Amino acid sequence: MTEQQTKAIEKVQEIDKEVTLISHIGATISWDQETYMPEQGVEEKSEQSSLLSRLAHDHMAGSTLGNALATLGADEKLLGAEALGNVTSKLPKGLSQTQKALVRKVYRNHFREAKIPEDLVMELSQTGTIAQSVWAKARNAGDFASFQPYLEKLVDLKRREADVVGYEDHPYDALLDTYEPGMKTAQVTQVFKDLRAALVPLVKAIAAAPQVDDSFLQRTYPLASQEAFGLRVLKDLGYDMDRGRMDVTAHPFTTSLGRDDVRITTRYAENFFKTGIFSIIHEAGHGLYELGFGPEIRGSSLADGTSLGVHESQSRTWENMIGRSRPFWNHYLPLLKTYFPGVLDDLGPEAFYRGINKVEPSFIRVEADEVTYSLHIMLRFFLETKLMEGSIKVKDLPDLWRAESRDLLGIDPDHVSSGVLQDVHWSFGLFGYFPTYSLGNIIGAQFYQVIEKDLGGSKALGDLVGSANFEPILSWMRTHIHQYGAAKTAGELLSDITGGGLDAKPFVNYLTAKYTEVYGL
Ligand code: ZN
Repeated sequence: MTEQQTKAIEKVQEIDKEVTLISHIGATISWDQETYMPEQGVEEKSEQSSLLSRLAHDHMAGSTLGNALATLGADEKLLGAEALGNVTSKLPKGLSQTQKALVRKVYRNHFREAKIPEDLVMELSQTGTIAQSVWAKARNAGDFASFQPYLEKLVDLKRREADVVGYEDHPYDALLDTYEPGMKTAQVTQVFKDLRAALVPLVKAIAAAPQVDDSFLQRTYPLASQEAFGLRVLKDLGYDMDRGRMDVTAHPFTTSLGRDDVRITTRYAENFFKTGIFSIIHEAGHGLYELGFGPEIRGSSLADGTSLGVHESQSRTWENMIGRSRPFWNHYLPLLKTYFPGVLDDLGPEAFYRGINKVEPSFIRVEADEVTYSLHIMLRFFLETKLMEGSIKVKDLPDLWRAESRDLLGIDPDHVSSGVLQDVHWSFGLFGYFPTYSLGNIIGAQFYQVIEKDLGGSKALGDLVGSANFEPILSWMRTHIHQYGAAKTAGELLSDITGGGLDAKPFVNYLTAKYTEVYGL
């Protein structure tokens, strides 16, 4: 490498490190806001957050970084979905693989930050702030009309964003790319089509079968014992409490406040046992991913989930494929009974297992089971892509929502509050985000199929889970997924682990086998 190139990579690493530090400080502020901050702290907290965003933006969009990246030969080819080896052939040979991956990642961020004009960023954030409070009132009042003009404005702004960022096939590509680098709308459309073809008949068959009894979930489960049990499970899963902690919040999330400070949050319901434990296991999955980034990438922007879909694949594997499995509760039910004396005496593991896996089409996405969940996502994905291509109008959303809900879930929300107004996402312009939840299920099942094979088959894997010996599973994930962080894209992980690309089949097979058995289909 030339002396200039050496200086350039040092500059990229230096700026990237500062931006990573800024983002961890920002995470500390957000975490505080969502957990312990007194109500009146909010005003300055939001000023602190916008100061940090401005600093990060100036670093990322700035010409110092731009020049350093150009010296290294970084250009728009790095934005493609191709394998690292192909797209980085232009980068200096003296760079390590990790440095090349860093240049790719930083270039992507720089490109986006530099391309989107500041007035558009401002307009989006201001409109989003107002629209969020309008949305909250509109949802409570069941009044879509009052929210409609704000949503129309947000859709316009996001279409503008897609135009300035640029895309080849579909405007939605430009938005999806923020959350799933390199993924195309056409790929998601295809994989959702395959999933839909399998799920709609499965849900119908389940609906025609006798329903399982989950009434035991609504008994009284004191919160302190729920927390104690949750912490026990967390420890068993391999969560290092010297590098993390768990707190309570309204909407559970996981966040990294530093290289060795990954925190999860949960919420509890005294009369609904599932809420607490499954959000703990879910967030633990996110947290284990972030705790597992390798030494080479720690402290850089590569120490991050490579895409939201891959992040969600980790949480959903632990929550659903492991945490809602029969061997898991064969092991934990006897222990659970000691945390809640007398509450579950009449219940055997089989009834418990069936109860926590109850499937029922419902209006609200966040309360959906693992079978119907993806249908909720497909509905939103369909409407979002049509809004972005301009083939449907915001004013028609309530009716389109109902029609889609009938088609997908076989139910018809008679109220906008449990239909089109239920989610907060669109009120701050979050388009392109929803599909990542379902991609998590799909990708998670693809990885899990390989884990099962590598660890000796389904019986052997079941034995590990059934004896709470999670170490071999976690260690597999660390080796094949976690250590790389964002140094490998979702597509590269899939190709290295499964030898192929995105594929709905493993998830379909998993759901079909599990629920055919649970419901005796
Ligand atoms: Zn999640």
